[in-house]
Amino acid sequence: MAKKASPSKKMVYYFGKTKTEGRGKSKALLGGKGLNLAEMTAIGLPVPPGFTITTEVCDGYYKNKQKLPAGLMDEIRKAVSVMEKELKKKFGDDANPLLVSVRSGAAVSMPGMMNTILNLGLNDEATEGLAKATNNPRFAYDAYRRLINMFGDVVMGMEHHTFEAAFDKIKKKYKVSEDTDVPAEGLKELCDAYKKVFEKHAGEPFPQDPYKQLQLAIEAVFGSWNTPRAVSYRQIENIRGLLGTAVNVQSMVYGNMGEDSGTGVAFTRNPNTGENKFFGEFLINAQGEDVVAGIRTPQPVAEMPKWNKAVHKQLLEIKQTLESHYKEMQDIEFTIEKGTLFMLQTRTGKRTGVAAVKIACDMVKEKLITQKEAVLRVPANDLTQLLLPSFKTTARNAADVLARGLPASPGAAVGKLSFTAADAKARAAEGEKVILVRKETSPEDVDGMHAAVGILTSTGGMTSHAAVVARGWGKCCVAGAGDVKINEKTKKITVNGRTFGAKDVLSLDGTTGEVMAGEVETQEPTLSGDFAKLMGWADQYRRLKVRTNADSPADSKRARDFGAEGIGLCRTEHMFFEGDRITHMRAMILAETEKDRRAALKKLLPFQRKDFEGIFKAMNGLPVTVRLLDPPLHEFLPHEDKAQKEMAQELGVKPSEVKQRTESLHESNPMLGHRGCRLSVTYPEILEMQVRAIVEAAIRCANKNIDAQPEIMIPLVGTAAELRVLRERVEAVIEEVVAQKKFEGKLNILIGTMIEIPRAALTADEVAEYADFFSFGTNDLTQMTFGYSRDDVNTFLPDYLDNDLLNVDPFQSLDTTGVGQLVEMGVTKGRSVKKKLKVGICGEHGGDPSSIDFCNQVGLDYVSCSPFRVPIARLAAAQAALNAEK
Ligand code: PEP
Ligand code: MG
Repeated sequence: MAKKASPSKKMVYYFGKTKTEGRGKSKALLGGKGLNLAEMTAIGLPVPPGFTITTEVCDGYYKNKQKLPAGLMDEIRKAVSVMEKELKKKFGDDANPLLVSVRSGAAVSMPGMMNTILNLGLNDEATEGLAKATNNPRFAYDAYRRLINMFGDVVMGMEHHTFEAAFDKIKKKYKVSEDTDVPAEGLKELCDAYKKVFEKHAGEPFPQDPYKQLQLAIEAVFGSWNTPRAVSYRQIENIRGLLGTAVNVQSMVYGNMGEDSGTGVAFTRNPNTGENKFFGEFLINAQGEDVVAGIRTPQPVAEMPKWNKAVHKQLLEIKQTLESHYKEMQDIEFTIEKGTLFMLQTRTGKRTGVAAVKIACDMVKEKLITQKEAVLRVPANDLTQLLLPSFKTTARNAADVLARGLPASPGAAVGKLSFTAADAKARAAEGEKVILVRKETSPEDVDGMHAAVGILTSTGGMTSHAAVVARGWGKCCVAGAGDVKINEKTKKITVNGRTFGAKDVLSLDGTTGEVMAGEVETQEPTLSGDFAKLMGWADQYRRLKVRTNADSPADSKRARDFGAEGIGLCRTEHMFFEGDRITHMRAMILAETEKDRRAALKKLLPFQRKDFEGIFKAMNGLPVTVRLLDPPLHEFLPHEDKAQKEMAQELGVKPSEVKQRTESLHESNPMLGHRGCRLSVTYPEILEMQVRAIVEAAIRCANKNIDAQPEIMIPLVGTAAELRVLRERVEAVIEEVVAQKKFEGKLNILIGTMIEIPRAALTADEVAEYADFFSFGTNDLTQMTFGYSRDDVNTFLPDYLDNDLLNVDPFQSLDTTGVGQLVEMGVTKGRSVKKKLKVGICGEHGGDPSSIDFCNQVGLDYVSCSPFRVPIARLAAAQAALNAEK
């Protein structure tokens, strides 16, 4: 919950030689940038002095009708005067003015989403002062015109192009085409022209009082916390519950003071591969924003020694200092002003899943962190990226490579071209796979970038907006593919004379940077190398077992390769859809007598038996929980007239009969209707066929020396009586089959139930009498606890998330407060009558790291999730166990 900011609290934290007040404080208070500026200053790195205004002030600003709290500007004046003393400069001075940057910085990084203003503190007089102090009038006027422009943009909300006409006029007058060729006097005239443009659009003159500039800039940064693009970014990234942004006011240093100045961004290790090599880019004679905006393509830092050996060496030393301080890979921003290096930012570097795993393993080797820390270090969900398909070697060797860009974010993407973020979003919503193609992306494009399967840009470097954002999401991105000429009007690209439009498919390899024509075949990932090593460490620490939800031998095998320790949910209904089976299933549903039903079921039996045998074989020696039929029967019937006619023909009945039966099966609330164990109560023959298939398959396996360990699970139980009756039936069939087959070995088939109806949780002690195990079906349990239809929730859930009525989608991440109580109660009550009752979870939450943490806390024995989430669950289970130790 947001805390109320009270005026008595300290609002401004200074960092500089005089003092570093923010050291050891929290990111929640100072934002990531502010906290790390304090840390870097404290460990002796060259950081230009400044101060951070807390996120509490931002919170207070919004609570107080968007007004700054009383006393803030006084605290700020005090901090500025400390800066002035340290730097021997004065804010707004006409001889040697102190200039500052004003930047946002929330607790969680939101690259490019909020506002920044540079060169603040310049006015007519200070500009003259700066010209004199630097002996560089051109630089001073350039700084001033940038400030007026940025201030107009950010504070006054003026459109960026408003200033362009004035600039064009000056360029014409001086007969130059590039901004950089305009001489000092031209820039001076430009400042006057910009001031006029400013006054015309803003309705007031450009403020000459530096403190007024500062106050308005601070308010603008606070305001940018709630712009639609920032709000949208937080929604996509699921960033919730923050107080707001902090504001960092820092003395300016200049990377654009000539050929001995420059600016850059770097990672202490390669964020794509994890390789332990300083990795980054810099631009000579440029300001910081130029690198991130992707306007000019920068040079790799490896080439820096050619330009300035000493600075390069100093940066490598700083890499070591930062890594041994933070024990983490860092993402830094730096500026070189006339040969002197300054650090402007450090933060934990975003990295791909592959890099996260390698860095964690390498840091263990380098003795920077322990194995436990390595296990805790990799966000479990990031493993998804190691579980993504890549291009098949044969297919990629034969691929038609059109161009090569920078390998900005790894992965394989195949899709049709889309040229705007809105188009990408709309087409993705229709289920189309699209690649977003832009010259460069900007924060406005985040929705489209998120919706696209991959991103291709023609300019920009490894640290451009597109690269940073895509990498954070684990989305394939090729940046700076200069050969790709984009025509946004005609919605076409031309690559070396070949043209492609919105209907054409391209394949992007984010690992090599290649852009290929057409669809290149992809392949499944494997678990090896550092990934396997990390998984091995995770397995040492976890208590929870990890099973999988699978209903085919192929899925079972894949899951086992990923480390699944059994099947927690085999949904038998999926087996009825293939080939001829659906015909027999439909015949069974249409049958009017038990005899006819049994006849149809008899035809299904061999299919089921074969499926089970395949799965038991794939899971040899591991438990396999088979759930008896669960969905309402109408799900197996066609609803369209044409399909109903075809079905009637196939079954040799009248179409009206099919129609009538379909209609008779219609229910108002099918999820609360005739499904789950209720089907077995009405049609025991279905249960009998399924159990027979399971037992016969198990016997066949036993005869082939395959150790089948079936567990029969009865779904949707709400009362102990249901389970008692159905258990008896299951036991009877087991006995009958064993006798018929004259099987003399041991089968040891467990019989248990799902706990997915609140009443089953509430009466779990009674239910447990008849259960050998419980498995929480948290999909239905969530549906029935909230009363949200799991199939229709999207009609209102986005509004709930946007308005903070819910923090997360409860179908994705277990609602520990409400649904969690039922889970905990189910476990406690169940074990109160059966101490050793085996308990697991098989709802979607079984693959969600925060839900897994909860499952660990309440003492479940295992979680079960889809095959591709098995490694994620193994890691999350280890993290849960380690966090519980703390
Ligand atoms: C559940 O309800 O959580 C469950 C696993 O079953 P299904 O999703 O098949 O209803
Ligand atoms: Mg269910």
